[in-house]
This record gives sequence, C-alpha cells and structure tokens, in this order.
Amino acid sequence: MSSLHDHNVCAHKDLTSSPSGYAEQVGYVRPSAEQRARAAGLKRGQQVAEGSFPAPLVLPNDDLDLDPKWPPQNVRSWVRGKERNEVTDDRRTLYIAPPPRIDSEVKHMQSWSIPCRASDDDSKTRISSPNAHDVAQYLQAFFCGMQVNLLEPSVVPLNFMRWQDDKRRSKKRKRSDEVPSIALANATEAVRIRSRRCPDGAFLQQLNLNDLLDAVISNLPADAYSLLMLMEQDMYEEEDDDYCCGRAYGGSRCAVVSMARYNPTTLASNISTLTFSHLWPASHCADNVNGLVIEALSEKGGKGKRQLRDDRQTSHGGKTLTLVDLTSSSPPPAEPASTTPQFESAMVEAVRRWAANPNTTQESRWLSHICRTASHELGHCFGIDHCVYYACNMQGTSSIAEDRRQPPYLCPVDAEKVKRAIAGKEKENGRWQTDQYQALLRFCKDRMDKDEGDLWAGLAGWLESRLKECREDL
Ligand SMILES: [Zn+2]
Ligand SMILES: [Zn+2]
Repeated sequence: MSSLHDHNVCAHKDLTSSPSGYAEQVGYVRPSAEQRARAAGLKRGQQVAEGSFPAPLVLPNDDLDLDPKWPPQNVRSWVRGKERNEVTDDRRTLYIAPPPRIDSEVKHMQSWSIPCRASDDDSKTRISSPNAHDVAQYLQAFFCGMQVNLLEPSVVPLNFMRWQDDKRRSKKRKRSDEVPSIALANATEAVRIRSRRCPDGAFLQQLNLNDLLDAVISNLPADAYSLLMLMEQDMYEEEDDDYCCGRAYGGSRCAVVSMARYNPTTLASNISTLTFSHLWPASHCADNVNGLVIEALSEKGGKGKRQLRDDRQTSHGGKTLTLVDLTSSSPPPAEPASTTPQFESAMVEAVRRWAANPNTTQESRWLSHICRTASHELGHCFGIDHCVYYACNMQGTSSIAEDRRQPPYLCPVDAEKVKRAIAGKEKENGRWQTDQYQALLRFCKDRMDKDEGDLWAGLAGWLESRLKECREDL
C-alpha cells in the first residue's frame, strides 16, 4: 500500500465549473445552461445540478482544442441515430472478453506487453494487469439493468497463434527484422492480426486495431448487445498514430480496449508529476487549470501532435492556432450566479474525499483507468457520440493526460441516453439514475474496504452528494 503520487501538493481550494480561459481562444462555444437542460431532455424550468457537473476543461491539445466545433449530440438526435442498436429482450448482455491467451508458437508475444522503460525496480515487482472479472463488475454497476458476462475462455477460447500463411512463407526469403505474423483464433477460425514496431518505443511491438476489431466482430455471441475485448498489448490504428487505447464500432456493437498504456509504469513516464497530483477530480482545481494553460502557451503550443486516437476519425484540416497569452486577456464570461451554484456540490465532496484518501495499490489505480475507458467505449456501442456539453465520461480524448483529467461519471445528457436505452421511455425509467449511482457507490465502497482510495474515494464522494441532490429534487 503506498501513496504514490502526492494528492496534497496543492490545497485544491478553488474549483472551476467553467472551461479554461483558453477555450474561447480556440473557438469552443459551450451550449448555454438552457440548451444543456433541453439537450438532456429536461422540461422547461427544470435545471441540471450545474455545480455538480462542471464544464469540459478544454486545455491546450485537448480533444475540444483540436476539434472545437464537434457537433453536439442531444438526446433527441441520439434517439434518431440511424446506426444505434436497440436493447431488446434477446440482446441484453454486454460481454467482456478477457485478454486472449498466447500459444507457445508465438510466445515471443509475451514480452510485448512489458513496458520497455521499466526500471529494474519495476521489473522486479511486475504489476499484474486488471482482472476482467473486476472490470465486468464495474460495468455491471455502470450499465445498471444490463446483464454483464465474461466471454468465458472455456466457451469461446480466444488465442493468439501463428498465422498459417506465414508458416509457408517462412521457407522463402524473409527480412531479418520481420516478426512472424500473428492470428487471433477461436475454436473454428483465425483472423490475421498485423503488428509493427512501437514508434515511441514504449513497448516492443503493437497490434493493428482494425484487425482486432474484425476478430471481435466474428466472435459476437447471439444474445450479445455488444462485446468488448480487453488487450494486454499496445495497439495502433493508422500508420501515423503513436498508439491507440480504445476504439468502438458502435454500429457493429464491438469494442477493443488496450490496457498497455495505462500500466502505472508506462503512465509514470508519460504524465508529468504535476498532472499526477491533479487527476480527476482535482483536475477541476482552478490553479491547476490556469497553470496548465500558461505552461502550454509558454511551450509555444506544445507538441501539437495528436498522440492518441480515440474512437473517431476527425477531419482536422491544418488549422494553425494563434496562441495568445491568457494572463493578459480577460477571463471567460461568467454564467449568471443563479445557474452556477458555487460548489456546495458533488465536486467539492469528490475532491475532499480524493485528497483525504490518496492510498491505493498500483493494481487498483490501473483498474480504475480501465473501468473508465471500457465504460466509454461501451457508451459508443449504445450509439453515444463524444460529449461537448460537460466534463463527462463520453468526452473525446487526445492524450493520456487528458484522459486522466476526465470524470468517470456520465453528464446529464449522456446519462439520459443510457437510461432510455436500458430502462425504456420516460414513465418507466424513473429510478434508473439513482439505481446506477447506488450500484457504482457499492462498487467503490467494496474497493475502499480493501484500502483502495484514490479514484474510488473521489467517485464515492461525488456519488453520495449526487444521491443527496436527487433526493432533494423529489
Ligand atoms: Zn470515444
Ligand atoms: Zn456527456
């Protein structure tokens, strides 16, 4: 048990409920409070508990910086979505496939999931990756009302093996640096999976995501609403990607999540110490938000290159940003006080509980990252697009640091979509939201009983406050 990253280097005294001052400069215009309430399907006069649902941060190089005009998807446009699959009595099960096993003829693959930059200390105490059963338990709470099952290896044995064509070819001339081709096979068929050297050297080799998704599609059980496969190995999607952590083909009801980049050893070499002290919920600390904007601007726009592709190809036509020193520009316009209760809110409680419970294990921290990403990708399987209304589990992500600043909960707009998908029309679904909050709270408390704080403690604080707010609304 250790407190690996100091949650308390900063007092996180002031939290911000607005986008960063930088957002305005890049042309992100947030829908108004009235538009947000309508987007969530609320009736005229009904309001969102705005203080508990802060705005997306929109920091430099965040997804909404790269795509500030991403079209909002309100509940109505989600209902009309053509690609969306209905949850039916025959298809009510979310399947989670544990990472495929590795056959002995491709056993060199075992080294692919070990971070290359692990120090000697790290390799002595190899951290074991999250257990698919724990991830499934979290998703059972998150998608409350669905059935969540593991795709049992005894029923569908997914194995990495050598690609048969490659056996024949290996007799012929072969480049010395060529790695044997891999296939992902179940009991009856095999799909070829391309691999390549990892461009940033974080791992030895990474697998092609599109090939993996093809393999997942061919293993979709008849009663599945969707199937999510967990991966030990790093992945890439396009030639010019560094890596990709997760992707869903919503219409085809399939998703793949790689756990590799969330390995605490890899994260430690990819995220600055400052970022670690301000993961969600402390990402909404005003000093942190201002500090990150100033830091990025002083680096003259930072790297600018998108390191991680998350689930959606975006057309980003060579726009150059004029970076303005925000310390000398006016602050973003504040919303009327009546719609922005000043943090007598779930966010205050989340930060307080998170800061008070920094202790956790590396394994637990890794699990929390995977639970969040898995719930995001499955959200796409429910037809949900990236969120531009609030800080939300369904926001697009352009870096691992942004990923870890985003919340695990759904904003009111996206929660309404999941609620309607699972629990049906308005009149029947009254208790879904509080049921989901309670199920997630039980999950967090189970983890906290094992002395795991960190994200679970922050989320527990947020959920308890929200449950109180929901009771007051009745
Ligand atoms: Zn996404
Ligand atoms: Zn949202």
